[in-house]
Amino acid sequence: MKARAFDYVRPQSVGDAMKAFAAADGDAVFVAGGQSLVPALALRLQAPTLLVDIGRLEELKGISLEEGTLRIGAATRHCEILASDLVRTHAPLLAEAAPHVAHPAIRNKGTFGGSLALADPAAEFPAMALALDAVIEIASPEGVRRVAAEDFFVDLYETALQPGEVIVAVHIPTSSGDTRAAFDELARRRGDYAIVGAGVNARFDGATVEHMRIAFLAVGPTPIRARSAEQVLLGRSIDVGTICEAQDALESDLDPADDDQIPASMRRHLARVLLGRLLGRLEAIG
Ligand SMILES: Cc1cc2nc3c(=O)[nH]c(=O)nc-3n(C[C@H](O)[C@H](O)[C@H](O)COP(=O)(O)OP(=O)(O)OC[C@H]3O[C@@H](n4cnc5c(N)ncnc54)[C@H](O)[C@@H]3O)c2cc1C
Repeated sequence: MKARAFDYVRPQSVGDAMKAFAAADGDAVFVAGGQSLVPALALRLQAPTLLVDIGRLEELKGISLEEGTLRIGAATRHCEILASDLVRTHAPLLAEAAPHVAHPAIRNKGTFGGSLALADPAAEFPAMALALDAVIEIASPEGVRRVAAEDFFVDLYETALQPGEVIVAVHIPTSSGDTRAAFDELARRRGDYAIVGAGVNARFDGATVEHMRIAFLAVGPTPIRARSAEQVLLGRSIDVGTICEAQDALESDLDPADDDQIPASMRRHLARVLLGRLLGRLEAIG
């Protein structure tokens, strides 16, 4: 199948990109790395009359440290996240997750902002944004607003973005003290979308858990925080007993649906297995 004919513009600023979008009267779409959008066009799942290319805008690029946060420009490519020392030092969870995103060819083009905007429930970065308490900076014709990752992922492929808005950057609180992170996923083949994945970001005071975030991917319509499991672990140390309690708590955190790939009961089981492995890894780092 071929995409429907469309016009293409590459504006020089976010402001101009939003104007071009608005001028198309609801029939435009932004493109960044094109790794999800272009296949959708080819399959005619989307058929806009105008593509507004924001993938090369300098305003959307770069990884930097800013007042206690790591700023990742929306057009930062997955491969740049993978190679960044700043990410490895200040958001190690993201560095751990990055090699699991697709294949090198896709990582060379796909962007961080594109992944968040698409909000595929099986994608790694949206769930990690949740685990890292990231804040998403969004430009709209009315100005700039910031939305916590917690409030950004609304439903299946649905985010807090309004038509014509652009993700500018993602701000991640830098890790401090004894921060430990672990990511893993279970997929049929390396590079496939995960059957279940999870990231854990924790801060310790000695052996005691001071801060705990657990976020799962591919277990529901959005990335999901395992709040009950987090609560089990707060103020305690990680050992066989607390790991089992946290695994049990997942029963109330996760409610996956059956699908044609895998029954819900299997996904629940795999989520337990994964959480056990990740918590075991955090304990071993200490
Ligand atoms: C074969 C294959 C395997 C893949 N495997 C994985 C995987 O295992 N894990 C994974 O996470 N991803 C995977 N992906 C998706 C890939 O990571 C994409 O890069 C990512 O989902 C979208 O990024 P992009 O920059 O290519 O966005 P695009 O395709 O350009 O855009 C996607 C959507 O986001 C919107 N958008 C993009 N940037 C912005 C912005 N700054 N502000 C507002 N809206 C924006 C676009 O309008 C569009 O609706 C895979 C893709 C393919 C083709």
